[in-house]
This record gives sequence, structure tokens and C-alpha cells, in this order.
Amino acid sequence: MAHVLIIGAGGVGSVVAHKCGQVLREGGFDRVTLASRTLARCEAVAASVRTRLAAELDTAQVDADNVTELCALLRELKPDVLCNVALPYQDLHIMEACLACGVHYVDTANYEPPDTARFEYKWQWAYEERFREAGLTALLGSGFDPGVTNVYAAWALRHELDEVHVLDIIDANAGDHGQPFATNFNPEINIREVTARGRYWERGEWVETDPLSWSMTFDFPEGIGPKKCFLMYHEELESLVLHLKGLRRARFWMTFSESYLNHLKVLGNVGMTRIDPVKYRGQDIVPIQFLASLLPDPASLGPLTRGKTCIGDVLRGTRNGKEKTVYVYNVCDHEACYAEVGSQAISYTTGVPAMIGTKLVAEGVWRKPGVWNMEQFDPDPFMNALTVYGLPWHCVDVTGKIV
Ligand code: NDP
Repeated sequence: MAHVLIIGAGGVGSVVAHKCGQVLREGGFDRVTLASRTLARCEAVAASVRTRLAAELDTAQVDADNVTELCALLRELKPDVLCNVALPYQDLHIMEACLACGVHYVDTANYEPPDTARFEYKWQWAYEERFREAGLTALLGSGFDPGVTNVYAAWALRHELDEVHVLDIIDANAGDHGQPFATNFNPEINIREVTARGRYWERGEWVETDPLSWSMTFDFPEGIGPKKCFLMYHEELESLVLHLKGLRRARFWMTFSESYLNHLKVLGNVGMTRIDPVKYRGQDIVPIQFLASLLPDPASLGPLTRGKTCIGDVLRGTRNGKEKTVYVYNVCDHEACYAEVGSQAISYTTGVPAMIGTKLVAEGVWRKPGVWNMEQFDPDPFMNALTVYGLPWHCVDVTGKIV
């Protein structure tokens, strides 16, 4: 039994805390602490976990960018596993602290340097030797995408296909929060991701596209129907192209509403999505950070959001020498998530897998010294846990139906 420390009490952190509270109540963890920069947010989440689940979380305040302060907290609490759901900027500081204090590490988003909107695994993969030598596990990207999408691919390659040749990860948020412009997770991170150049992988090379310049229409299941999806670069592609045997092409697609795209275009045109500081009345201001401070807090969208999300992998390859295509996906309902944990489905679909990854590392089921991406572990226990903890999935044979 383990003591889990969650860092970050935002939209995703709140779901991780509720789901860890559920495991605590089931007797799967023996202690859960929620720590973040603002103690009041941790206390509000802990109060909700107490009311909804009759489980008691501990809380703490910490600046995770301050490695000394974080180490002091780790030495005091002695957690077994740390689940990092703060922002990508904190990843390396938190990994340093985990190494210094002998704590296993799990996160949901790869490191991004604050001054460059380019997310890559190279900074975190560079920790491989140090984690291996320390006998500690670092599990990277245990959210939905990255996260579940990686596990879907590993599972399909084990159970449905002998080889995967083409991978398309397709993410639809078919929900509506009624706001003219809001992001479903941290606004700064979301806008940096969406305004970056597109990139996909074909025949061993990365091909770049202008931001949101390629689109296709995909017919989503369970009544969602056809939606326009835009090609984007997404971080799981970087590890999947290394680990999926026989892969020839890998792409990532996401849906956006017309309103979101129009706002983003105008904000980009007037410079409000810039990530470099500009001088305003003698002060340095980073436009995207100022914009983020004006936008709705993603955690506040929970009671407003209706509709569903559908995220899945279309994998084309071969089985017993014949071509075969499968679609592995989950559909999640915003209102059902809100009723269960008080959050919308984007936070829910990220927070549940973050808890599952943490649980598997804590139990030793997914534990190997080193730094790992999700597809490098046995997918079966993770897939089973998805169904148990609220994200049931489906696999359908779509051979010849989806090109
Ligand atoms: P929020 O902005 O809602 O929450 C971030 C939390 O981190 C806040 O509680 C914030 O504290 C805390 N925090 C920020 N800086 C520090 C710091 N220096 N020390 C301690 N705590 C800090 O973000 P989300 O919950 O929407 O997203 C959380 C993470 O999940 C992000 O990394 C995001 O990229 C990732 N994500 C991953 C997805 C996936 O599928 N893999 C999908 C969606 C998100 P404060 O309250 O003081 O601001």
C-alpha cells in the first residue's frame, strides 16, 4: 500500500484527487496528499472528496519550481509515488526532486521550456540513466492523449494486429460550454499547443504543416456524428513512432468549434497569443499569460458543459497476413463527469488515467527503473482499470470502412 502525493490542484488535479480518494476508500492506497501552489484550492478539492466519497486527503502548499522547497516536502511526507498534474514547466524540477528523495514519478504532459512553444521528450528522456541508477520509475504522459491513446496502440498491437502501418489518433470534444471562447484545460498550454505548426510522421520523416491548415471529416460514434478535424502535432507521436513495430504513418487530429477557431485567429492576428514579453507602460507582459488570466478557469466549465468527448485510435495494419483496421475509442459524457466528480470531461479523461498510471506504479505492476512512455508497459492491466474507473472503451473492426 502506498502514499501518493499529487502536485497540482487545477481541473485535472481535482479529478486525480477524487479518483485517488476512491482508491483510498477501497483500501488501495493508504494515504493521499494533494499539494499545490495555492493551498485554498487543495482544501476546496479535499472538501469535495470528503463530501462525495467520505475519503480524507491531506493537503500541503508547495512551489514545485523550487526544488529545495519541494524536497523538504518530500522528505517530510515520504510519498512512494508523485503524480505531477501541475504545468509542463514544472516537470524537470519535480523529476529532480523525485530523484533526490527516492520517489517514483508520473505525469501527463511533457516538458515545455516557457520561452519556446515546442514540446519534446528529449529533456525528460535525458533523465533515463539517473532514474535507472536510482532504481526509480518515471512514467511519462499518463493522461488521455498522451496516455490512453498510447496504451490503445500497444493493446491493439498485442491483441488485434501483428503489425501497425498507419495510426490516426482522433480527438473530438463535441461538448458545448456556451462560452464564446474558453479552453478545456490550462489556457496558456492549450493555446501554445493549438497555434504551433502541425507535424506528422511518414516513412521515417517528420512532415510540417502550417497551423490548422489540414483537415478531414470523421464520423464519430454514439450519436456524435461527422465533425471536421484538424491535423496537429501532439506529443505521443514522438514516442509511438519509435515503439510501434512497422509503423509507416502517424497523425493526430482534433476537432474545434467555429467560434473557437475564429477567436483564436483574431487573437493571433492582434498578437495576443505571443509568448515573448512585450513592454507595456514600463512593465514586461507576456500577451498569452495576460490573455489566460482573462479567460474562464477550465475548472469553472464543469457545470456549464453539455455533450460528449470521443477520443480514439484508428490503427491500420495486418493480422495473419491480411489487412485489418481497428478503431479503439472511449466516449465520455460531460454532464455525467460533472455529476460524479464536479469536473467536465476533458479534466476527467485526463485525471482518471493519471490516477491509474500512479496506481500501477504504486502497486509495482508498472514499475521498472528508468524513464518510460505508456506504450512500453503491458497494456492489459491499464485497459482493465480504465473500465473499472470510469473510462470504458470499445474496439471495432473497421477494415475497409475507414481509409
Ligand atoms: P490548471 O491550470 O487548471 O491547473 C494547474 C495546477 O498546477 C494549478 O493548481 C496550479 O496552481 C498548479 N501549479 C502551477 N504552477 C505550480 C507550481 N510552480 N507549483 C505548484 N503548483 C503549481 O491546469 P489543468 O489541470 O487543466 O492541467 C494540468 C496538466 O494536465 C497540464 O500539464 C496539462 O498540460 C495536462 N493535461 C494533459 C492532458 C492529457 O490528456 N495528457 C489533457 C489536458 C491537460 P494555482 O492554483 O496556484 O494556479
